[in-house]
Amino acid sequence: MEKEKLGIYIHIPFCKSKCGYCDFCSHTPKKGETERYLNALMLNMQDFSSSAKGYSVDTVYIGGGTPTLLSKKHLKDLVDCVFTTFNVEKGAEITIEANPGTVDKSTLRALVSAGVNRISFGFQSASDKELRALGRIHTVQEFADSFKAARSAGFKNINVDLMYGIPHQTEDSFAKTLEFVKSLSPEHISVYGLKIEEGTPFYEAQDSLPLPDEESEYRMYRTAHRMLDAAGYEHYEISNYARRGFRSKHNMRYWKDEKYLGFGVAAHSYFGGQRYAYTDDIEAYIREMEHPSSISDILSECTDIDVFTKETEYVMLRMRLFDGVDLMEYRREFGEDFMRKYGAKLERYINGGFVTANSTKCAFSLKGMYVSNYILSEILDF
Ligand code: SF4
Repeated sequence: MEKEKLGIYIHIPFCKSKCGYCDFCSHTPKKGETERYLNALMLNMQDFSSSAKGYSVDTVYIGGGTPTLLSKKHLKDLVDCVFTTFNVEKGAEITIEANPGTVDKSTLRALVSAGVNRISFGFQSASDKELRALGRIHTVQEFADSFKAARSAGFKNINVDLMYGIPHQTEDSFAKTLEFVKSLSPEHISVYGLKIEEGTPFYEAQDSLPLPDEESEYRMYRTAHRMLDAAGYEHYEISNYARRGFRSKHNMRYWKDEKYLGFGVAAHSYFGGQRYAYTDDIEAYIREMEHPSSISDILSECTDIDVFTKETEYVMLRMRLFDGVDLMEYRREFGEDFMRKYGAKLERYINGGFVTANSTKCAFSLKGMYVSNYILSEILDF
């Protein structure tokens, strides 16, 4: 019998310095912290080897932070630990996030020979002025060099992260960023709108940041769709574009509500009928792994997924995809008719061109996707 599939996420909470907009769990590592954290991570994974025994791992994602701040040896030890602890299937998608300027050819080659086959570069913009305003540690040229080095090291699946709505950005400079990235021909491009999160330097300074206005931001979102669609990239999720056959398998797992185990501080999991996340307190996490007492002490959240939550999450996550909700699948999963349940609430959005519905699926249009959070909050009871 075929084993059930599972994804693995590993969080590396280290960065050279903090970008002005970042609220991810990351910091500059203290002396000796990297070794202790890696050791804790591996213990954490090994603890799950028996509960994950019956699963076949088809995606692994090493994210952060900046995983490529780790030494070549640490990266190899980490990837080897994943392979020896879990049943990683042949051809599994194994991604690592990288900051341009933090990878050299020999590290990239070592990653490929360790089994990593997808790399995701946080680039954001092809304007050095915009990169500086974001607090990024790299230049445009360093990104281009890292991208080419990744190709020559053997990466055949590369993602590039971009951002719109950033300080000093204009519609013209954003279009130039898209042109520049298209010219490199990555297999996958993510395009996120900048969100100003509480607790970040950008939040404190937001009134004085030279940000594009909302109308320009919306036009940038549409420009990304138009230019990338014309270049052969499928806009398959609110912020994600892929060449045929290169959708992010790991992220698809999140959007399709499939199981994954997360390891490391602030890592989330969906496993055993629960969603849970580890604390972002690195010292507490390391202590618990070194001297186990009660794992629940280092969980920042833990929720049993009942049928109501499952159904709500299903709709929220599927609607992020342009494939939308498959009406037959919805009926199979939840035993009721999607349009009978949501049709009345959706009617004004269907009439307004925000949502499309036919006999097989219900999905957001391009303009609907842009305001999807608002529409979902109107139709779902949560
Ligand atoms: S590189 Fe990424 S994780 Fe690190 S500080 Fe910048 S945005 Fe945050």
